[in-house]
Amino acid sequence: MAAPSSAGFPCSEPGAAPYGNFPNYSRFHPPEGRVSLLPGGLLRRLFPAAARPLLGLDVGCNSGELSVALYRHLLGLQDKSSLDQPAAGKDLHLLCCDIDPALIERAQQSSPFPASISFANLDIMDSGSREPFLSSYLSRFGRSTFDIGFCMSVTMWIHLNHGDSGLREFLAFLSSLCKYLLIEPQPWKCYRAAARRLRKLGRNDFDHFRSLAINGDMAERITHILTKDCAMELVCCFGSTSWDRSLLLFKSNGSDQEDREPSEPLSG
Ligand code: SAH
Repeated sequence: MAAPSSAGFPCSEPGAAPYGNFPNYSRFHPPEGRVSLLPGGLLRRLFPAAARPLLGLDVGCNSGELSVALYRHLLGLQDKSSLDQPAAGKDLHLLCCDIDPALIERAQQSSPFPASISFANLDIMDSGSREPFLSSYLSRFGRSTFDIGFCMSVTMWIHLNHGDSGLREFLAFLSSLCKYLLIEPQPWKCYRAAARRLRKLGRNDFDHFRSLAINGDMAERITHILTKDCAMELVCCFGSTSWDRSLLLFKSNGSDQEDREPSEPLSG
């Protein structure tokens, strides 16, 4: 899929990864550890009445391993060889974007579900390109919002590159665009490690991380922003992975009334 590219890539030195655009991210943070925390049948429980295709947005998809794992898990396609009808009885389309065009190219080349999962090179912080691009995707389905957004291990990179105001703006944008939002915030200790790594590589752009006023318990801080400033409510915390990262599910309070509330607890 063609999409605007505005990030000034390629990233000059291998390993620098100033956006978290590591070429082998999924090797050191495997998708299975995270998708397995999500209960089976989640989509059916969140959207019991939806007869239309569900639309998902995966922000910061890297080379797509987690996007594909999420797609399989949410649709009950655990068997890797199976291309059968989704067991969850839902039709899901995922738009997955990343700031790094080389990662997107790899994702496109290896995607097992090209008809349902689209990969696009997009800087989600570039409002000039994201808005036309995302609305054009949504309008193909006659929609103006996504049913669910995924923001997995991305908030730290947005925060380090765009500061407190960038993080707030990012969360406000996602909450206006997605009915549900699944977020895996990086804990504060990861910020220190990321800044240290980049400093070693001779980049000092992240030194301002010391002055970030949003710090400490990042899951709590992000929950506070989303619930107090973005009209979202926390639906569920799917617990921590072995990396001590929480998976938080939020719901927009201003969402449409088409789907009923989930009738059972989601964490079971
Ligand atoms: N979501 C995946 C990968 C996380 S790594 C997973 O959890 O496994 C973080 C990704 O966010 C990187 O691939 C990086 O390139 C991307 N990213 C960082 N800033 C971005 C931005 N402004 N727009 C789009 N993608 C971004």
